[in-house]
Formats: sequence, C-alpha cells, structure tokens
Amino acid sequence: MSTGIKNLVRTLDGVDFLKMDRRTFMKAVGIMGASAFLGTYKTDIVKALEFAETKVLWIHGSECTGCSESVLNAGNPDLVQALEKLNVNLAFHETLCAQQGIWNDGKLVNTSELNSEILQEEIYEEGGYILVVEGAIPNGPDGSGRYLVIGNKTFKDTLGEAAKNAAAIVAVGTCACYGGITSADSDVAKDTDYRGVAFAKTDKSKGMLQELNIDKPVINIPGCPAHPDWVLLTLGAVILGKIKVPDDLPALLDDYNRPKVFYPPDHTVHENCPRRGYYDRGEFDEQVGGEKCLWKLGCKAPYAHADCGIRRWNGSVSMCTQAGGPCINCVDPGWPDTSRPLYVEREDIGVAGANIDTVAKVAVGAAAVAAGVHAVRRMKGE
Ligand code: SF4
Ligand code: SF4
Repeated sequence: MSTGIKNLVRTLDGVDFLKMDRRTFMKAVGIMGASAFLGTYKTDIVKALEFAETKVLWIHGSECTGCSESVLNAGNPDLVQALEKLNVNLAFHETLCAQQGIWNDGKLVNTSELNSEILQEEIYEEGGYILVVEGAIPNGPDGSGRYLVIGNKTFKDTLGEAAKNAAAIVAVGTCACYGGITSADSDVAKDTDYRGVAFAKTDKSKGMLQELNIDKPVINIPGCPAHPDWVLLTLGAVILGKIKVPDDLPALLDDYNRPKVFYPPDHTVHENCPRRGYYDRGEFDEQVGGEKCLWKLGCKAPYAHADCGIRRWNGSVSMCTQAGGPCINCVDPGWPDTSRPLYVEREDIGVAGANIDTVAKVAVGAAAVAAGVHAVRRMKGE
C-alpha cells in the first residue's frame, strides 16, 4: 500500500466525512469499496450529494419511504457511482436532510441551513430543479388535502408549489405514480381520495397535477418499491440530457408514463423467471418454500410488464420469484386491487385497462409457447 493511501486509511479512522472535499471523499470510497462504504456511511453519502450541481428536490407524501431505502441500496450503479457520474445535488430530501422545521430545540429557526421549509422555498424560487415525488397525495376530505398536513401545509399544496418551477418531474414508486397501497379499495378510499402525481390508478384525468391545474409532463417509475436502477438511470438520463423533457417523452413512455425500456409493453416478468421451466412442464408449488412454479400461489408475473427477470434485484443477485415470493405485479397502475387477493391463484382478473381476452392474447403473443396457452386456459377455466 502506498504511503499516500496508508495516510488516507489512517485519516478514515474516526474521520468526519461531512468535512471532506469531493475529491477526498471519492478516494475514500474507492479504498473502502463502494458497498462497504455504502453500508457504513450512508448518511455521509447523502451529504456528498451536496458537492454536485444538478439539483434534485425529493418530496414525500403518503408512503413508507421504501423507495428511498431501495435507492440507498442501489447495486449497479450504486449510489456513489451514480452521484459521481451524474453530478446530482440532492438539495432536499425530507428523510435524509439534516434540517428541521420551524422550531428546533424550542427556538425559532430562520435559515435554510436549519429550516427545511425555508430551504424548500429557496429551491422553488431558484427553479430548474428535478422534482422527485415519493408517496401518494390525499385529495380528501372533500378536496382539501388535509389528510396529509406537514408543517401546517397540506401535501397537496406542497406538491403544487414544488411542481410549478420544476424542470422535470419524476414520480417514484407505485404510490406516487398511481396511488398504490394508499388508494386500495376500502371503506375509506372515497374519503381519503388518494391520487398519484399524474394518474389516479389508471385514470389520467384524475392525477393530482390535473386537480391543481398544473400542466407538466411526468415520468412514472412504479414499483413497490421501485428498482434503484430504474430510479437512478432515469434521473441520470434526464440530468445528462439523454432524455429531453418533454420532447422525447412520447416515444419513451408507455400509456401509463412508464419508460418502456424498464417496463416493456411486449415483455413480462414471467418470460425470464428462473422457475419458468416448471411452468412450461405444468409443475406447480402448492405451498411456499418449494422450487417449482408459483402460479398456484398467486403469481401475477404473466401480466407484470417489468424487466425484473432480466435485471434482477439486490445487485442482480435475486428477484421475487427466485426468492420464493410470487410476483404481485407491483408495477401495475391498478395495483394492489388488480392483483388482489395477492397470494391466491386468480383466473378471473386481467391487467388494468385490458379485458380478459386482451390479456389472453398478450399472454399468448408474449410467451409464444405452450406455457402461454396453458395460462389462457387457466384464465378461461378450461
Ligand atoms: S408463473 Fe410466476 S413463478 Fe411461475 S414461471 Fe411465471 S413468473 Fe415464474
Ligand atoms: S417481480 Fe413482480 S412483484 Fe417483484 S418487483 Fe418485479 S413486478 Fe414487482
């Protein structure tokens, strides 16, 4: 080990990463290895984002923060690689920011270094940022949006303010895209009236931006959670100008504003499932823990338009069906209602927006083998 590196390793012991310049920070990451570094210094990585230039304003509605967690666990590119190459400046992220609200330890705080609301307002004024929205937006009760209030402001209003001066808007996770879990059918669903940024389930006329009379293009990255690659590569492509908003979007996105490259209209998760051989032979698990096809345990992968089977998850190590969990088609605009009951074989449901015959044709066309025919027969109860 060279003396320079030895010195750097010595400095890493008890080092304050927050005081490092970008160059030293990246050296440190290189020495430790990105994954070890990610595991140990996630908070510091977030701070490192401030070295970069393109601003990202990341706001949170009603959600579990699972999509942020997913991005923090990114594999290839990992978060550090993405930040280094893409020059992202995560200017605001509610969960990761050090800033608090109006009060801090009983004192009124009025600088953007301490107060998240002031920081947000400064970013709005500056404009030109990429707005990332994670989580759904309640419109209820009665259009007031008051089922989610942060700092005495409804999230509906926050979205409206943040969206106005954004250069591009990316909805991350099925909640932000279409309403997701929060908009699932229930006794209170009508009152809470959860919306996605540009859609309410499959309905493009009821997205929250339409409700707010804001006309801005939105890229949807659904998933529960969204795959880190889908998020980072989309952000990267927008930041690097590989995707020009709005000009390139009509060709790049499907009917539900999903990038076709990650959510291919003519490809389903089922096609590259590691259990696919069992499906083709008609061998099905009837209890969890086996190695055969999970169709009878409610797998919805034949209708799931995503590249999970090819890309895989957790650094390309595994994915839902490989790990023994039936695919629940978490990327679908109508999810979770279109997949319910999740772990029960359902033969009478189709993909949102398509009737059962259409789905059958897609299944046959996509699979083009006996497995597709088998799926169709099962759906028709033959
Ligand atoms: S039905 Fe599900 S578990 Fe079975 S092969 Fe298709 S994707 Fe894999
Ligand atoms: S395999 Fe299915 S449930 Fe799992 S992440 Fe992909 S689309 Fe979602």
